[in-house]
Amino acid sequence: MPEMIIHTQKTQEMIDITSQVGEAVRRSGVQTGLCLVYVPHATAAIVINENADPNVCQDILDALGRMVPEGAWRHDRVDHNAAAHIKATILGPGETIPVRGGGLRLGTWQSVMLVEFDGPRDRTVIVEVR
Ligand code: ZN
Repeated sequence: MPEMIIHTQKTQEMIDITSQVGEAVRRSGVQTGLCLVYVPHATAAIVINENADPNVCQDILDALGRMVPEGAWRHDRVDHNAAAHIKATILGPGETIPVRGGGLRLGTWQSVMLVEFDGPRDRTVIVEVR
């Protein structure tokens, strides 16, 4: 599965895509290698962090909101989403995860998450396993 579409529901949210990415790794047949997870978008990001306590995700969104106020930027004159661009830039569009034993080598508390900053939208997630 080289690409998947995720339908986001909110203006800002973090969506756990660990199971879909893990399934892509299993289907690739790669036992030892690397898994790249990447979003081809300017106002979304990929992060690896904890989702066992969903408050962690809300805390991350709140912290970014405090760092990057809305409506204070030049690009807001164009389409009013400069804060979303800045937050997406801070987090980055992708992560690379080691593949071991045919699966993702994540830590116990790590999940792979799509971060939406300008939703709701349909977001493409590219998964490359080599
Ligand atoms: Zn924009």
